[in-house]
Amino acid sequence: MPISKRIRFAVFEAANFTCAYCGRKPPTVTLELDHLEPKCKGGTDARENLLCSCFDCNRGKSGKRLHEGVPSAVTANVAEVKERLTQLKALQRWSAKLKAAREGQENQVAEAFATGWGNSCGLGEAGMRTARTFIDRLGLDDTLDALRVAFAKRDRTPEMVDDNLKVYKYWCGICWRWIREGKQDFRRTR
Ligand SMILES: [Zn+2]
Repeated sequence: MPISKRIRFAVFEAANFTCAYCGRKPPTVTLELDHLEPKCKGGTDARENLLCSCFDCNRGKSGKRLHEGVPSAVTANVAEVKERLTQLKALQRWSAKLKAAREGQENQVAEAFATGWGNSCGLGEAGMRTARTFIDRLGLDDTLDALRVAFAKRDRTPEMVDDNLKVYKYWCGICWRWIREGKQDFRRTR
Protein backbone atom coordinates (compact mmCIF):
# COMPACT_ATOMS: atom_id res chain seq x y z
CA MET A 1 0.00 0.00 0.00
CA PRO A 2 1.41 3.41 -0.88
CA ILE A 3 2.25 5.70 2.00
CA SER A 4 -0.41 8.38 2.45
CA LYS A 5 0.23 11.97 1.46
CA ARG A 6 -0.42 13.03 5.05
CA ILE A 7 2.36 10.80 6.39
CA ARG A 8 4.67 11.78 3.54
CA PHE A 9 4.33 15.47 4.29
CA ALA A 10 4.54 14.88 8.03
CA VAL A 11 7.94 13.27 7.43
CA PHE A 12 8.95 16.17 5.15
CA GLU A 13 7.89 18.70 7.79
CA ALA A 14 9.78 16.91 10.52
CA ALA A 15 12.86 17.05 8.27
CA ASN A 16 12.22 20.74 7.55
CA PHE A 17 11.79 19.76 3.90
CA THR A 18 15.50 18.98 3.67
CA CYS A 19 17.08 15.97 2.01
CA ALA A 20 18.77 13.92 4.71
CA TYR A 21 21.71 13.16 2.42
CA CYS A 22 22.55 16.36 0.55
CA GLY A 23 20.67 19.04 2.52
CA ARG A 24 18.88 20.44 -0.52
CA LYS A 25 15.25 21.59 -0.51
CA PRO A 26 12.48 22.08 -3.05
CA PRO A 27 12.23 23.60 -5.56
CA THR A 28 15.90 22.72 -6.21
CA VAL A 29 15.08 19.07 -5.72
CA THR A 30 12.02 16.88 -5.46
CA LEU A 31 11.67 15.07 -2.19
CA GLU A 32 10.54 11.54 -1.63
CA LEU A 33 10.52 9.05 1.14
CA ASP A 34 13.39 6.71 1.72
CA HIS A 35 13.34 3.68 3.95
CA LEU A 36 16.04 3.65 6.60
CA GLU A 37 15.86 -0.12 6.67
CA PRO A 38 15.08 -1.11 3.07
CA LYS A 39 11.77 -2.81 2.49
CA CYS A 40 13.48 -5.77 0.85
CA LYS A 41 15.29 -6.31 4.14
CA GLY A 42 12.08 -6.21 6.12
CA GLY A 43 11.87 -2.44 6.67
CA THR A 44 8.34 -1.17 7.30
CA ASP A 45 6.40 1.95 6.31
CA ALA A 46 6.30 3.08 9.95
CA ARG A 47 7.11 6.76 10.48
CA GLU A 48 10.37 5.97 12.29
CA ASN A 49 11.63 4.00 9.32
CA LEU A 50 10.99 6.83 6.88
CA LEU A 51 13.50 9.42 5.84
CA CYS A 52 13.17 12.57 3.76
CA SER A 53 15.43 12.18 0.72
CA CYS A 54 15.68 13.94 -2.59
CA PHE A 55 14.99 12.03 -5.77
CA ASP A 56 18.66 12.11 -6.83
CA CYS A 57 20.06 10.86 -3.56
CA ASN A 58 17.40 8.19 -3.13
CA ARG A 59 17.78 6.81 -6.64
CA GLY A 60 21.54 7.10 -6.55
CA LYS A 61 21.59 5.16 -3.35
CA SER A 62 19.86 2.13 -4.75
CA GLY A 63 20.99 2.12 -8.37
CA LYS A 64 19.05 -1.06 -8.99
CA ARG A 65 15.76 0.79 -8.99
CA LEU A 66 16.80 2.94 -11.93
CA HIS A 67 16.86 -0.09 -14.21
CA GLU A 68 13.54 -1.41 -13.06
CA GLY A 69 10.40 -0.70 -15.00
CA VAL A 70 10.47 3.08 -15.00
CA PRO A 71 7.49 4.82 -16.66
CA SER A 72 8.14 6.77 -19.83
CA ALA A 73 10.38 9.79 -19.37
CA VAL A 74 7.62 12.28 -20.22
CA THR A 75 5.09 10.81 -17.81
CA ALA A 76 7.69 10.68 -15.11
CA ASN A 77 8.67 14.27 -15.79
CA VAL A 78 5.11 15.62 -15.61
CA ALA A 79 4.52 13.75 -12.39
CA GLU A 80 7.78 15.04 -11.00
CA VAL A 81 7.05 18.66 -11.83
CA LYS A 82 3.59 18.35 -10.28
CA GLU A 83 5.07 16.79 -7.19
CA ARG A 84 7.70 19.52 -6.99
CA LEU A 85 5.02 22.23 -7.07
CA THR A 86 2.99 20.44 -4.41
CA GLN A 87 6.07 20.26 -2.22
CA LEU A 88 6.94 23.88 -2.82
CA LYS A 89 3.44 24.92 -1.77
CA ALA A 90 3.61 22.73 1.32
CA LEU A 91 7.02 24.18 2.16
CA GLN A 92 5.64 27.71 1.81
CA ARG A 93 2.69 26.90 4.07
CA TRP A 94 5.05 25.29 6.56
CA SER A 95 7.42 28.30 6.54
CA ALA A 96 4.50 30.67 7.06
CA LYS A 97 3.34 28.55 9.97
CA LEU A 98 6.81 28.60 11.53
CA LYS A 99 7.11 32.36 11.01
CA ALA A 100 3.73 32.99 12.62
CA ALA A 101 4.65 30.76 15.56
CA ARG A 102 7.93 32.64 16.00
CA GLU A 103 6.27 36.02 15.87
CA GLY A 104 3.69 34.85 18.38
CA GLN A 105 6.48 33.86 20.77
CA GLU A 106 8.32 37.15 20.34
CA ASN A 107 5.10 39.02 21.03
CA GLN A 108 4.60 37.01 24.21
CA VAL A 109 7.99 38.20 25.48
CA ALA A 110 7.23 41.79 24.46
CA GLU A 111 3.89 41.61 26.24
CA ALA A 112 5.50 40.21 29.37
CA PHE A 113 7.82 43.23 29.38
CA ALA A 114 4.94 45.62 28.81
CA THR A 115 2.98 44.04 31.66
CA GLY A 116 5.96 44.10 34.01
CA TRP A 117 6.81 47.66 33.12
CA GLY A 118 3.19 48.76 33.19
CA ASN A 119 3.45 50.43 29.79
CA SER A 120 2.17 49.57 26.36
CA CYS A 121 5.47 49.63 24.51
CA GLY A 122 7.17 46.44 25.60
CA LEU A 123 10.32 45.89 23.59
CA GLY A 124 11.70 48.03 20.80
CA GLU A 125 13.11 46.63 17.59
CA ALA A 126 16.54 45.79 19.04
CA GLY A 127 14.88 44.22 22.06
CA MET A 128 12.74 42.05 19.81
CA ARG A 129 15.85 40.86 17.99
CA THR A 130 17.41 39.97 21.33
CA ALA A 131 14.23 38.15 22.37
CA ARG A 132 14.40 36.13 19.16
CA THR A 133 17.98 35.11 19.94
CA PHE A 134 17.01 33.94 23.43
CA ILE A 135 13.88 32.13 22.24
CA ASP A 136 15.97 30.31 19.63
CA ARG A 137 18.60 29.28 22.14
CA LEU A 138 16.63 28.80 25.36
CA GLY A 139 13.08 28.24 24.21
CA LEU A 140 10.13 30.46 25.07
CA ASP A 141 9.52 29.06 28.56
CA ASP A 142 13.03 29.68 29.84
CA THR A 143 13.14 33.11 28.17
CA LEU A 144 9.98 34.05 30.06
CA ASP A 145 11.32 32.43 33.24
CA ALA A 146 14.40 34.60 33.02
CA LEU A 147 12.14 37.63 32.75
CA ARG A 148 10.25 36.54 35.87
CA VAL A 149 13.58 36.30 37.70
CA ALA A 150 14.52 39.78 36.44
CA PHE A 151 11.24 41.32 37.61
CA ALA A 152 11.53 39.55 40.98
CA LYS A 153 15.02 41.05 41.31
CA ARG A 154 13.62 44.47 40.42
CA ASP A 155 10.97 44.18 43.11
CA ARG A 156 13.69 43.56 45.71
CA THR A 157 16.05 46.25 44.42
CA PRO A 158 14.99 49.89 44.92
CA GLU A 159 17.37 51.32 42.29
CA MET A 160 15.90 49.02 39.64
CA VAL A 161 12.28 49.91 40.26
CA ASP A 162 12.09 52.85 37.89
CA ASP A 163 14.83 51.75 35.56
CA ASN A 164 13.45 49.64 32.74
CA LEU A 165 16.83 49.43 31.06
CA LYS A 166 18.34 47.84 34.18
CA VAL A 167 15.62 45.17 34.19
CA TYR A 168 16.21 44.55 30.50
CA LYS A 169 19.97 44.25 30.99
CA TYR A 170 19.52 41.96 33.97
CA TRP A 171 17.24 39.75 31.87
CA CYS A 172 19.86 39.64 29.11
CA GLY A 173 22.49 38.68 31.67
CA ILE A 174 20.39 35.81 32.99
CA CYS A 175 19.60 34.53 29.51
CA TRP A 176 23.23 34.57 28.41
CA ARG A 177 24.22 32.84 31.60
CA TRP A 178 21.61 30.12 31.09
CA ILE A 179 22.79 29.72 27.52
CA ARG A 180 26.39 29.35 28.70
CA GLU A 181 25.95 27.32 31.86
CA GLY A 182 22.48 25.83 31.69
CA LYS A 183 19.52 26.82 33.79
CA GLN A 184 20.03 24.24 36.54
CA ASP A 185 23.56 25.39 37.26
CA PHE A 186 22.33 28.95 37.50
CA ARG A 187 19.76 27.98 40.12
CA ARG A 188 22.32 26.07 42.17
CA THR A 189 24.78 28.94 42.34
CA ARG A 190 22.23 31.56 43.30
ZN1 LIG B 1 19.63 14.75 -1.77
